[in-house]
Amino acid sequence: MTPAIYLVKGRDKSLRRKHPWVFSRGIQRVEGDPQSGETVDVYANDGKWLAKAAYSPTSQIRARVWSFEKRDIDKAFFVEKIQQAQLLREDIIERDGLTGYRLIAAESDSLPGITIDKFQNYLVCQLLSAGAEHNKNVLVEALLECFPECNIYERSDVAVRKKEGLEQTVGVLHGDTPPESVIIEENGVKISVDIINGHKTGFYLDQRDSRKESMKYVKDKDVLNCFSYTGGFGLYALKGGAKRVINADVSQPALDTAKYNAEINEFDISKKRAVFLNADVFKLLREYRDQGTKFDVIVMDPPKFVSSKNNLTSGANGYKDINMLAMQILKPGGTLLTYSCSGLMSADLFQKVIADAALDAGRSVKFVERFEQAADHLIDTAYPEGFYLKGFACKVL
Ligand code: SAH
Repeated sequence: MTPAIYLVKGRDKSLRRKHPWVFSRGIQRVEGDPQSGETVDVYANDGKWLAKAAYSPTSQIRARVWSFEKRDIDKAFFVEKIQQAQLLREDIIERDGLTGYRLIAAESDSLPGITIDKFQNYLVCQLLSAGAEHNKNVLVEALLECFPECNIYERSDVAVRKKEGLEQTVGVLHGDTPPESVIIEENGVKISVDIINGHKTGFYLDQRDSRKESMKYVKDKDVLNCFSYTGGFGLYALKGGAKRVINADVSQPALDTAKYNAEINEFDISKKRAVFLNADVFKLLREYRDQGTKFDVIVMDPPKFVSSKNNLTSGANGYKDINMLAMQILKPGGTLLTYSCSGLMSADLFQKVIADAALDAGRSVKFVERFEQAADHLIDTAYPEGFYLKGFACKVL
């Protein structure tokens, strides 16, 4: 018998709207003895069957829905989801000439806790939920049925696994160990990805669309690319004809790859057209301000500053601080391309933060364009939390 959970009266509303999470406080009773990650049936208080979900005994999110249909959660289930996900992305893979893209965006692809990026013939998995961990072997089998040529590597070295009672883990799940450099292409730009040592699964695919849009602001301009990682926006700036690009990051391996990326694209980086600067952006911006150094374009793509509701205020202040400083060192008429990947900070709030930054910087600032995560990081209508990355192009007078 499949174990079952019965919800508190009235706590079935979100599931009826196809949101995939069941919180511990919404559960009235558990029948059977479900183990970590095991599939359970979810019932409303009145006994109506609602969903198949993965049980997570230690997490506040006590169960995550696999399916709102009565079906087995087996290899065939995962094959169907993976095929669907691939199909949903085929047009943008073609349009943007992608050899690297997000194949599975967890809840947004109806596979809670499972993120999979495809870099050439390497599939890189990040498994964040008990259900994902429990089904790891069948997931690997399903991936191999869909992509028989692929090697599979796990990068589940993320702290949030603790909430699900899971240890961090990395390693080969199938095939070869990834080489230090797997070169992918997006919009005609080549990017070297270090799957084993890079951040997250190796590369920030989610900024692809914004990187492309940034190109129209950079021709003949002096560009400061803050939080550059392996070059990202800086590479597009070089492609877009920027006069000079300074890439700033605290990670030396990322900067080394950024330089290598400029080389494999055969961009002209002689005469210091591209600079790779190991610097703390918070300090660097102040130094530039104090020295009176000015730029035409500044890209501001920091890591996530808001990790929980408790640090929303301090995170918002972090965004305000760096954006204020960026505004202060932009030439009149300059462009600020600014982003927030903090899901807990709404686009509205981010807009207010930029407005506050403008006030404190003493500059008049106009929003001219809005950005979102790239199209392979799609958003399910039932799961608005899937929208996390937003940005603005601002003109600063
Ligand atoms: N824009 C990049 C992604 C940026 S990810 C792209 O398009 O690919 C955020 C980066 O910020 C990481 O590379 C991290 O090393 C860097 N970082 C974090 N804190 C920093 C700080 N205080 N100063 C400079 N870089 C920082």
